[in-house]
Amino acid sequence: MNKEEVMCWEHNYVLQVYHRPNFVLEKGEGCWLYDSDGNAYLDMVAGIAVNALGYNDPEIVRVMQKAATGLIHVSNLYHTAPHARLAKLLVETSFADRVHYANSGAEANEGAFKFARKFARTRFGAGKTDIVAFSGAFHGRLFGSLAATPREAYQVPFLPLMPGVRFAKFNDLDSSAQAIDDHVAAVIVEPVQGEGGIHPADPAFLAGLRTLCDRHNALLIFDEVQCGMGRTGHLWAYQGYDVVPDMLTAAKPLAGGLPIGAILLNERVAKTIAPGDHASTFAGGVFVTSVAEAILRRVSEPHFLQEVSAKGRYFAAKLQQMKAQHITSVRGRGLMLGIDLDIPAADVVQIGYRHGLLLVSAGKKVVRFVPPLVISRDEIDAAVDRLAAVLAEL
Ligand SMILES: *Cc1c(COP(=O)(O)O)cnc(C)c1O
Repeated sequence: MNKEEVMCWEHNYVLQVYHRPNFVLEKGEGCWLYDSDGNAYLDMVAGIAVNALGYNDPEIVRVMQKAATGLIHVSNLYHTAPHARLAKLLVETSFADRVHYANSGAEANEGAFKFARKFARTRFGAGKTDIVAFSGAFHGRLFGSLAATPREAYQVPFLPLMPGVRFAKFNDLDSSAQAIDDHVAAVIVEPVQGEGGIHPADPAFLAGLRTLCDRHNALLIFDEVQCGMGRTGHLWAYQGYDVVPDMLTAAKPLAGGLPIGAILLNERVAKTIAPGDHASTFAGGVFVTSVAEAILRRVSEPHFLQEVSAKGRYFAAKLQQMKAQHITSVRGRGLMLGIDLDIPAADVVQIGYRHGLLLVSAGKKVVRFVPPLVISRDEIDAAVDRLAAVLAEL
């Protein structure tokens, strides 16, 4: 198929909920993607913080090839080794005592909401059902997760959503204290907000939420779908804060590009969940968990995480030093960085394509950098040079 055919068929046959640029991606290697005309793009998107080890990683290709001749899927009705091995590894590398699998970030969050309501009902009776979320949050696009994602454009066409969600101001403990009372089952927060514009939580904010949750017998859920799995230079973002949640949701990079989600839970919550309470046909399948185990082993190596931290500091410093026109500030943790712009982020993303640079916005005036975690310092230099060329055009 040639490029025109691909674009024409996409336009004619695919539901139009994305504006895609005028090229067709065909292959990838490390942090580079190549289109059907042979143009190379340095990838600061990584499938939206998904492809932690980049493209065509030799070890992951081997793991996939071996897993492809295995069982792929047999349903959650049966025991399989990769399912159990990944859960053990997730427990050993986190606060959690148990793991429940899902297929995406939104699904993981909705599972966490269900578990929070079951916990509250079992321990404290009916009526303790509310969820508190925050301004700028993004938790997914399903009816429960969307209800906790305060964006009118996303919500309004689909009302009514799941009832019982309240909002407080992110990084504001007074506002949180107003919202969190004895009717609240759980508080959900991203330790580093992604879609909302790359905003790290203040340490005192997360610590304060822990205290408020304990005072009102509410569970604390960290949504680490984007900031988890090594992205911040810690395996889990909460490990860079001194605050431990009751549940943590993971997804995007966990299987390196295959769909997966996971809810990590402490035993206090897990004890209130019984067989039949929640289920999924595909979640935690043999193929996907085989791959996720290999990704998690690589990403959780101390040296790998130290490198993410060091490269993140290097990248942030280079962005700070650019002092380019249009950049008003630089934020983030590890390899999850954002720049505030005084021009529309969409223009920067658009011109980036012509300079062989893939970027993604996080709100109208923020461009975010969530490259593969295996990016080299030379590639960071190249990305910053290309960004400077883009901004010089605007
Ligand atoms: C992307 C994202 C989600 C939703 O994940 P999907 O796999 O798209 O459903 C939820 N929370 C955060 C923080 C995210 O970045």
